[in-house]
Amino acid sequence: MPDMSALSDRLRERGQKIAFVPTMGALHEGHLALLTAAREYADQVVVSIFVNPIQFAPGEDFERYPRDLNGDKKKLKPFEPLILFCPSAAAMFPGDFKTRIEVEEISQKLCGKFRLGHFKGVATVVAKLFNIVKPHFALFGEKDYQQLLVIKQLVRDLNLGIKIIACPTVREYDGLALSSRNRNLSAPERKAATVLYRALTRAKKEIEGGETDTRRILLSLGRLIGFEPTVRVEYIAIVDPETLREVKDIKGKVLVALAARLGKTRLIDNLLITP
Ligand code: AMP
Repeated sequence: MPDMSALSDRLRERGQKIAFVPTMGALHEGHLALLTAAREYADQVVVSIFVNPIQFAPGEDFERYPRDLNGDKKKLKPFEPLILFCPSAAAMFPGDFKTRIEVEEISQKLCGKFRLGHFKGVATVVAKLFNIVKPHFALFGEKDYQQLLVIKQLVRDLNLGIKIIACPTVREYDGLALSSRNRNLSAPERKAATVLYRALTRAKKEIEGGETDTRRILLSLGRLIGFEPTVRVEYIAIVDPETLREVKDIKGKVLVALAARLGKTRLIDNLLITP
């Protein structure tokens, strides 16, 4: 870790611009799209792989979270030269680590209601990674839309001076958002999971068709997902894309966001929709 920090100092002294892509590994095309975009912004791209223990609550899937460092290294080959940073949990969070960063309000909505302490763990690890890597730019996927808002707020509030770049969600041929957790789906679960994107596109069609009553849209999405009995919805919400507050009557751009469980796997997805 001192090495990464010192390397960043040297790069900065040489006037090089650093773009940073934090990940939890088990890399897929969504991560690689962030790396491709990162190259446009900077002379040096740093990618971190760290399965952050403090963003998982007890009983969540920290142990089951896919890990594949060798596979990841192969996927990163075409992006060389690239700085790969894989800190250990002991180096990041030694026994006497006591600090937590909380981004209020935005962290309490949507996933925050179901994953207690999750965004505190995210904000804390990202702030720590930012302090080590010292990037000029950091790239995040819209797939984790709420996380993106939390990080933007963190950077603003603490004057971190890093430009946050949002990248669109990369999807499978059938619309399923790429996620490391998709590896944990059984074949029938993988098939059923397509209903999530179908629900989002139905919302888009209804909103673009002039429907403004979110209660009616949510009922319609609930019915559609109901045809897949293995999919247990945690939440579906139509919210303001900036505040994540629920919208009743659609007048402008909205975010339709959802989380669902398929067996032991929890998936999230979202779509920004302009009426
Ligand atoms: P993760 O490894 O899942 O923590 O994700 C690391 C970064 O990749 C985050 O900024 C995610 O939002 C982003 N990401 C994950 N999946 C996708 C996807 N399907 N499309 C675009 N970005 C993604």
